[in-house]
Amino acid sequence: MHGSDGSGTACGKKPARERYGNDGIEVDCMEKLIITVAPTGSLPKKKNNPNVPITPKEIAETGIRCEAAGASILHVHARNPEDEAPSTDYRLFEETHQGLRERTNLIVQISTGGRAGMDYEQRCERLRLRPEMASLTTGSVNFPNSVYANSPDLIERLARDMKRYGVKPEMEIFDLSMVTNALDLAERDLAQAPLHFDFVLGLKGAAPATAENLLHLKNAIPADATWSVAGIGPAQLPMSMLAIVTGGHVRVGLEDNIYYRRGELASNEQLVERIVRLSHELGREIATPDEARQILHLRGNQKP
Ligand code: MG
Repeated sequence: MHGSDGSGTACGKKPARERYGNDGIEVDCMEKLIITVAPTGSLPKKKNNPNVPITPKEIAETGIRCEAAGASILHVHARNPEDEAPSTDYRLFEETHQGLRERTNLIVQISTGGRAGMDYEQRCERLRLRPEMASLTTGSVNFPNSVYANSPDLIERLARDMKRYGVKPEMEIFDLSMVTNALDLAERDLAQAPLHFDFVLGLKGAAPATAENLLHLKNAIPADATWSVAGIGPAQLPMSMLAIVTGGHVRVGLEDNIYYRRGELASNEQLVERIVRLSHELGREIATPDEARQILHLRGNQKP
């Protein structure tokens, strides 16, 4: 299931006696699929897709619908309600976190991404909310029209904060060097194994969304690590399918892709529902939020 077992399925890591039934036929032992929804992000606005949730209340309501559809993690960005611009306002993160905690059982994963503000001070405060997870980009990369700068010092400070607050990082990987940097954090005891990775593929300026790239990244992480993939734009669906059959997990949502298919706008819950249908067809069950907590070795909700 995880990492470089070479088999491409959950079963490869299991001893043969557990892997095969008494009749010698391989039993169904695929780990359940964790679906992350990234409903908002920094870029799409209502004029691009009216289904993008902007306010904390809208994000909580989207969370309720996506949880019912089969999501177990919600990746949070804050937006200024007036102009929909990305925001670093602590109170918006706090209200969103609280709304999701009160109204859903979803794992709240707060973005520490830098489109709203690049400085450490602008990106660390929200970790005081002690969300169960937060994203941590472990290197710098070009976005289509800007530099997404994450210096070694900034990465280390964010990792230290996550460790202090008991927040599990999702290593946000845009290229192979970022895997190496994440492993370095673990070696220096700034992140605790088993690590969790999210491979962001198909963004202009970063690694293209190809099967070869996904498998190469998957094979570069430790055997006990878990991973998901976030395909950008039209790459979302094919990358999701690859993750389902190679033992990874899936991230969908309007942050990465606003379309259901060419020319047809999506809603977040529609994108989740599609993954649930396809995963069932491929023989893989869907994890509930509590099952996802077990798979990811989360500590469970704690008081801020
Ligand atoms: Mg994000």
